[in-house]
Amino acid sequence: MNDLSRRDLLSQAKSIGASAAIGSTLAAAPLGEPQGNSSEPKRRLKVIVTGGHPGDPEYGCGGTIARYTDLGHEVILLYLNRGEWPPKDAGASRVAEAKRACEILKARPLYAGQFNSQAVVDTAHYDAFRKIIEDERPDVIFTHWPIDNHADHRAISMLAYDAWLKLKKTFAFYYYEVSNGEDTIQFAPTHFVDISNTEPRKREACFAHASQAPNRYYALQEQVTRLRGIESGHRHAEGFTRHVQSPDFALPLA
Ligand SMILES: [Zn+2]
Repeated sequence: MNDLSRRDLLSQAKSIGASAAIGSTLAAAPLGEPQGNSSEPKRRLKVIVTGGHPGDPEYGCGGTIARYTDLGHEVILLYLNRGEWPPKDAGASRVAEAKRACEILKARPLYAGQFNSQAVVDTAHYDAFRKIIEDERPDVIFTHWPIDNHADHRAISMLAYDAWLKLKKTFAFYYYEVSNGEDTIQFAPTHFVDISNTEPRKREACFAHASQAPNRYYALQEQVTRLRGIESGHRHAEGFTRHVQSPDFALPLA
């Protein structure tokens, strides 16, 4: 995105605010915002949010996902598995919940074909995962922070990272947090997105995963978005860490 004039950048100086609060600059290329009343962005971006299980992208990034899709960008929620518990449960109910959550966020579900709590990270699975990313050609990927107490989360973080390296770091790369203390550990965001207006839809998408005790888990996530909001000056915010070698890429503007 090199087509932005200095004037464009300056005009967004005030609004970029805490969207990229630490170490960020106006050089962070703003996303294509709707022109006039049109919901069509200047350039439609493809965003992939990877998660160990159905629900993880929604819990960690649901407000930001809604910000992107509201701007007319395409968002894919790429789940490592279907959340199945074989042999009794093939994951159909989890897939149905994810379909509903994606409808709420105007995103598209996609599955990497692994099995719940049996994550494999080896050469064959690195290759298979990279092929998925290569076919989709994203502008940015969000994935789990690698220090996480769930092996499936760590696995997809490694798979996504390897794909990013092998594809020559040609798209932006961010880490997100989920269920802090229970899953994500030791996370310190470098960037924030104001989700005050999209938090209700994030909540609805998380509660679409009705089998996953949203009453319990959403309460924790809401504490996190309030904390990140306090840090960044918003009612609710989501925090992200951009890989230091990632191409510059702005999150949705505040
Ligand atoms: Zn998970």
